[in-house]
Amino acid sequence: MIAMRRWVCPICREGRLAPGRARRDDTRTYCLSCSDKSSHLVRRVCEAAERERARAKETERAAKRQQAELNAVRRAQYRSLSRLRTEQATRVEGYSLEPFIVPLWRACRASVYAREDCPLAAPSAEFNDRRGHGMLGVMKSSKSVRIYTKRARSFAGALTTLLHELAHCAQPPKSPNHGAIWQSLLAGAACKVLPGWEPPAKALRKTWRVVDDAIEIEIARRIGAGLSPIEAGIQP
Ligand SMILES: [Zn+2]
Ligand SMILES: [Zn+2]
Repeated sequence: MIAMRRWVCPICREGRLAPGRARRDDTRTYCLSCSDKSSHLVRRVCEAAERERARAKETERAAKRQQAELNAVRRAQYRSLSRLRTEQATRVEGYSLEPFIVPLWRACRASVYAREDCPLAAPSAEFNDRRGHGMLGVMKSSKSVRIYTKRARSFAGALTTLLHELAHCAQPPKSPNHGAIWQSLLAGAACKVLPGWEPPAKALRKTWRVVDDAIEIEIARRIGAGLSPIEAGIQP
């Protein structure tokens, strides 16, 4: 059974019972005598139904407000978590890689093998603590690199990867990746940041790994000898 509600005429205040959600053409919801005196139909107002609708709207608004507050809290939590993750991702064995971007880039730019239009500003580096796709790092564009720090064997390895990717950013556009020009660029840059270090002889450099490994071994050797990367010649 449908609950009957009181519908009241807004002009004469006379009322009648009709369902709260009455059909649009329900004659009980119209005041016929007031309509008769006017040029248009005068509809009665079901105040109880209107109050209910207002209450429902207010409840909905409150729920929306609460959801928005909850979302804001979640967003803030997510932001601080991702800040923390980013901060952690720049570190390998306690060392942050960030301070080394500029000096390593400077060393790459200084090479005679660097591209002619090599920009002064260092590429931006993104440190990613996800596992990546089996790679240690990647050049995203000539202006940005990504280093997968979780995959690094050691800080020396991560630093080598950073130098490796920056050398890609600095190489002339048409020179082949990991080719002779690129290898010379990388070896030259490593000589600058590792004073006294001798790059592997050209005959040995069949693959890029030879240069990479030699750099990594040398950085690791210097850190192992109690030198921080700063004292090792790699100035942040
Ligand atoms: Zn009326
Ligand atoms: Zn490469």
